[in-house]
Amino acid sequence: MKYDVIIIGAGAAGLMCAAIAGQRGRSVLVLDHANKAGKKILMSGGGRCNFTNYYVEPDRYLCHNPHFCKSALSRYTQWDFIGLVDKHNIPYHEKQLGELFCDNKSSDILEMLLSECNQAGVDVQLKTSVNSIKKLEIDSEHGADDRNADSNTDCINSRYKLITSKEDSRTDYTCESLVIATGGLSIPTLGATGFGYQVAEQFKLKTYATRAGLVPFTITNQLKDVCIALSGSSCEVTMECSDQSFRGNMLFTHRGLSGPAVLQISSYWQPGKTLTINLLPDIDLAQVLRETQHERPKLSVKKFIAQWLTQKMSEQLVEFFFPAMPQTLAELNAEQMDTIAEQFNAWQLAPSGTEGYRTAEVTLGGIDTDEVSSKTMMAKNQPGLYFIGEVLDVTGHLGGFNFQWAWASGWAAAQYV
Ligand SMILES: Cc1cc2nc3c(=O)[nH]c(=O)nc-3n(C[C@H](O)[C@H](O)[C@H](O)COP(=O)(O)OP(=O)(O)OC[C@H]3O[C@@H](n4cnc5c(N)ncnc54)[C@H](O)[C@@H]3O)c2cc1C
Repeated sequence: MKYDVIIIGAGAAGLMCAAIAGQRGRSVLVLDHANKAGKKILMSGGGRCNFTNYYVEPDRYLCHNPHFCKSALSRYTQWDFIGLVDKHNIPYHEKQLGELFCDNKSSDILEMLLSECNQAGVDVQLKTSVNSIKKLEIDSEHGADDRNADSNTDCINSRYKLITSKEDSRTDYTCESLVIATGGLSIPTLGATGFGYQVAEQFKLKTYATRAGLVPFTITNQLKDVCIALSGSSCEVTMECSDQSFRGNMLFTHRGLSGPAVLQISSYWQPGKTLTINLLPDIDLAQVLRETQHERPKLSVKKFIAQWLTQKMSEQLVEFFFPAMPQTLAELNAEQMDTIAEQFNAWQLAPSGTEGYRTAEVTLGGIDTDEVSSKTMMAKNQPGLYFIGEVLDVTGHLGGFNFQWAWASGWAAAQYV
């Protein structure tokens, strides 16, 4: 069967691209191996989909070429997506820092995209794997590059042929534009595969090594017992690594550390690197310690710290950090006070690792954006082959930025497929 456009991956970027290309009059087929479209959308934002952010800026994205994302993000903005959400009367709210969440369920966003696809006549075919992609020779005289040509399927100049898992011979598909929207490697149980990277390899596009991003840290040394004891407790911290700093909650877990500040900094962390954690970001502990020693000398170190952290957290951390330290403030000398202050204001922690793709929200690295046009998302050396969404080496911060990249890159490609 012939289509103008075939999109592999019925996730955030693929569905957005399909709807917009369909609205342009292109015949569009979306293929996905999963039994349901948009599984990550459904799981996202704790079931409420943090679908965009009021403050989308290019510096909220990691990419080896920091300029790459600018074009798409400026042509399809958060306000465009909010306009679509409003058109579908989906209620939403700002949680914090510009993060927009559905009032009800993530399925509101998925249903909106599927309804846009449906209205645009897009075919979505699930439970279909693509076994191979073949590039076809086409007659250039008949305008394969004329993207505004009549979309009558008889006129399609097919550039790519797909052999799928469906055994029927009608299920070999050809298309003029092939869009790879298969996302990254995070959460294989939600359908993630390395398919997009294999396609890049087949067509000789460079890729950067991938690793898990927005992911909890694991701790396997003596600190693990503290993490287990404090599992479920959280506190507001700042975390620094590789010249990046984030402020937010840090959550102790049975395996190590999680929470928004941890997920954010994890994207900048490499194995072996040390984090600097300020457990009391609003307190100059060296100064307050000296003042309090003078005013309340009999106060214990644990009670002193418990003014800002919970009693349990203070006890566990003070015992772990200073097993041989004097009990009361009066007994501390200047050096000991500086040690305590440094430990709480600039804790140096080297995580053992991360929880990996099993729980990561995103995949860092991926297809080198120098291989792709930032305007059209088409591979520079492969006419008609497009890459959108997370499969590219573009990774957003936590807070709705990854979906905004999916919408923007999907929209950009849809103008040209
Ligand atoms: C638990 C979780 C929560 C998240 N919450 C948020 C959030 O609130 N806000 C935010 O901005 N971002 C969030 N993200 C990140 C966001 O979901 C992704 O960045 C985004 O979905 C990427 O869109 P995509 O279309 O590129 O890929 P996906 O949405 O991952 O879509 C890829 C699609 O391709 C299909 N596919 C994969 N391999 C194949 C293959 N071989 N053949 C056929 N089909 C294939 C998959 O089944 C899937 O449907 C979250 C991620 C996770 C894992």
